Amino acid sequence: MAKKPAPTKKAGKTAKYVYFFGNGKADGNRSLKDTLGGKGAGLAEMTNAGLPVPPGFTISTDVCSLYYKQKGKIPASVDAQIAENIRKLEQAAGATLGSTGNPLLVSVRSGAKFSMPGMMDTILNLGLNDKAVEGLKARTSNGRFAYDSYRRFMQMFGSVVLGIPKDAFEHEFESVKNAKGATLDTDLDEVALREVVQRFKQVVRGRAGRDFPQEPHEQLTMARDAVFRSWMNPRAQEYRRIYDIPDHIGTAVNVQMMVFGNTGDRSATGVGFTRNPATGAKEFYGEFLINAQGEDVVAGIRTPQPISELAKVLPKAYKQLRDITTRLERNYKDVQDFEFTIQDERLFMLQTRNGKRTGYAAVIIATDFVAERLITPKEAILQIDPESLSQLLAPGFDQKEWRAIPVATKGLPASPGAASGHVVFSAEDAVKWSDAGKPVILVRRETVPDDIRGMFVAQGVLTATGGMTSHAAVVGRQMGKPSIVGASALDIDEEGKSFSVDGKTVKEGDFISFDGLTGEVKLARVASKPSEILQVLQGGLEPKKSDIYRRFMQILAWTDKYRRMGVRANADQPDQAELAYAFGARGIGLCRTEHMFFGEGRIPIVQRMILADNEKDRRAALDELLPMQREDFYGVFKAMKGEPVTIRTIDPPLHEFLPKREELMVEIARLEARSHGTEELEAKLRLLRRVEQLHEFNPMLGHRGVRLGITYPEITEMQTRAILEAACRLAKEGLKVTPEIMIPLVGHVKELRDQSAVVNRVAEAVMKEQGIKVKYLVGTMIEVPRGAMTADEIAGEAEFFSFGTNDLTQMTFGFSRDDVGKFLRVYQDKKILDKDPFATFDVDGVGPVLRTGVELGRRTKPDLKIGVCGEHGGDPSSIHFFEKVGLDYVSCSPYRVPVARLAAAQAALAVKVGD
Ligand code: ADP
Ligand code: MG
Ligand code: MG
Repeated sequence: MAKKPAPTKKAGKTAKYVYFFGNGKADGNRSLKDTLGGKGAGLAEMTNAGLPVPPGFTISTDVCSLYYKQKGKIPASVDAQIAENIRKLEQAAGATLGSTGNPLLVSVRSGAKFSMPGMMDTILNLGLNDKAVEGLKARTSNGRFAYDSYRRFMQMFGSVVLGIPKDAFEHEFESVKNAKGATLDTDLDEVALREVVQRFKQVVRGRAGRDFPQEPHEQLTMARDAVFRSWMNPRAQEYRRIYDIPDHIGTAVNVQMMVFGNTGDRSATGVGFTRNPATGAKEFYGEFLINAQGEDVVAGIRTPQPISELAKVLPKAYKQLRDITTRLERNYKDVQDFEFTIQDERLFMLQTRNGKRTGYAAVIIATDFVAERLITPKEAILQIDPESLSQLLAPGFDQKEWRAIPVATKGLPASPGAASGHVVFSAEDAVKWSDAGKPVILVRRETVPDDIRGMFVAQGVLTATGGMTSHAAVVGRQMGKPSIVGASALDIDEEGKSFSVDGKTVKEGDFISFDGLTGEVKLARVASKPSEILQVLQGGLEPKKSDIYRRFMQILAWTDKYRRMGVRANADQPDQAELAYAFGARGIGLCRTEHMFFGEGRIPIVQRMILADNEKDRRAALDELLPMQREDFYGVFKAMKGEPVTIRTIDPPLHEFLPKREELMVEIARLEARSHGTEELEAKLRLLRRVEQLHEFNPMLGHRGVRLGITYPEITEMQTRAILEAACRLAKEGLKVTPEIMIPLVGHVKELRDQSAVVNRVAEAVMKEQGIKVKYLVGTMIEVPRGAMTADEIAGEAEFFSFGTNDLTQMTFGFSRDDVGKFLRVYQDKKILDKDPFATFDVDGVGPVLRTGVELGRRTKPDLKIGVCGEHGGDPSSIHFFEKVGLDYVSCSPYRVPVARLAAAQAALAVKVGD
């Protein structure tokens, strides 16, 4: 984990730790996200743009690092900067922190570089105490408002800073509501709210063993430190793990003058997007609540109104909001997700950031922006998260089957996609069921940040409360997880693990399905079907009838202009190869011949080959396999339309083609119980003996790869013959074909020399027999560290290299990729490893091995063609590394090809080769 550089210190001057914004001018701006966090940078940018932003200051992320380094102590010099900024803020606000007659109230808001819904709740109305609340009442002649603000403050401070469970406050609040016969919080008057405040004081005394802190400066210090502490809470850590956000970057703290959406019915608070974040449609989108504060909208306390209603209720503020957000979208050249408050008809902007969106929306918005000339195609490429493209390939329902089932209920369509699975009612159960291989739908009244792991593993998330900007909706969209929220007809009993709807009861384990694009929920299992894009590619739908298909292809076409690396696919069947070609793969980087051995009716022949105890019998079995392999290769070559096809000779240890030892023993025992000496029993016994002979302690490090070809050259011979015969046939048909024969697991140049000799001898013979020449290459996988370290010698024998990063990772770490699951999670929890190195290439440790392989290989052959064919070939952050070291291409599964094309273009635009 790289350390964050310390803030720059100029001679004689202490570093700047606190950044002011207010009165139309800010110390920071949007480029300072690292220091100010996303929220702080946005507030600074909006202030500089002259937008109505309440003044305040941002305590930088560096202070968070200091807080942890110094075990919770903040240096005096930082405290001094904070004190100075409080004075500045008091001046700008015309009010004083701790004053009784004219108190300054502030919010304390966390804000890291990346928005993290799992981190900390904002504290509003800080600065209130028993005296200031009276001052606020006198100043505004609004006692209800003053006490509503005070009880909110106590509630937030009590839970977030003092660690008192929210329920404790909620319980008292509810009981006052009940006593007064109130249904909504807005029904409570000043007298009732005073009562609430009294009860909250008791709660604090009882639970925290102290009185509610009355001194505003102390309140502020405590809140600031709570924000820093929240950076390391388990929810925040889990969130960072899922989204690959490093731990060391820390959070900033924003202290900002309060504006009030809860002064009455000319005030409001709300959130919105400049475009629809679920569908990408160009529509102003959001929700608000009259007479409310901050979190009310997202927390689902009252049902918010759609933002279009604001035009009717507060038209002037609405118009101003439209103007401002349109400007923001243009300025940031991206969809804005904004938060605002209206105090007595006056609009204030409280946040703006680039909006999270579904993969579907990302494609629509980027192509619309280009059509609107807001951005260029190049900017569009940089704006789209490559994973968006893979979301678009996710399946949907068969519409016929779907329509035949009655709708049980409808909720808000928060995140599109078809989901079907067993109902579970807690995040824990979701994890448990899905670990057992069962698809689940997580059903909750509402989700909380603690649910994040359960949401992650679920097929979809369904909630009964909350709006389009609730936690479930926001997180669902970001994960590309089908989600429906606010399905209020669901009567959920989370403890009893059941819900009822439409007169029916659904229990844990029952099947439901829903469509995240329409919001419809049905009580049945529904098979899903390929995405619209796949339907076009597979010929079921005309391209001109699919808007999303055309936009998808448009984006991919743009990427090709900026991409340096080629993109190939890992495919071993003609239909996979065709799909990959349609997605834009130009070539196959890895055709695993052993997959073909599992084809229809072949396993018995393969087993006969393995069981042979002499060369003659083995050759006889191989002769039977030859025509089958020839057909396989013919099909794959043809599907690739002349693009290069890399075929790897047999790689796995042979026992993988034989039955498991335990299974055989059970069968034998069964046969023996029934009869004696039958032929079947004899055969099984022979098989068992061979299985036992082939048994290895570490098959991954055993008799596999090139070692098989060396011990059984007739296998390499058969495979070479099949490849060349197929190639010659295509050549005779007048088609172009470019086979590349790849020897796996080479660690010593002499291994490759041995196998190239076999390949070349057979190839020459076949071409002579066929009377035609085809150009073929012989190369190797570099996946054993020794192979990389002696790549200069190996390059002397090889016409191309392909890095097998799965094995290279396995052998460099010494982690068996089949067993790593037993400890990887603990490694990640203990922060020994940030990421799974089998999913994201380990640049720090395996990277140098790969880089050495490239450098040594090209020292011998400057033009050596080098690619990568491990799983990492389809992983965007790994692709950035492959671009840097100058590989010629990446190869990945067919469905990842679009992702790889986009990621390769982004990598090429962002880095120089050889960096
Ligand atoms: P989050 O990061 O969870 O969105 P925020 O810091 O943005 O938390 O605060 C949440 C909400 O609290 C804001 O959307 C806004 O409605 C309210 N809020 C925050 N600061 C202020 C303020 N100074 N005045 C009024 N409302 C505020
Ligand atoms: Mg916010
Ligand atoms: Mg390998």
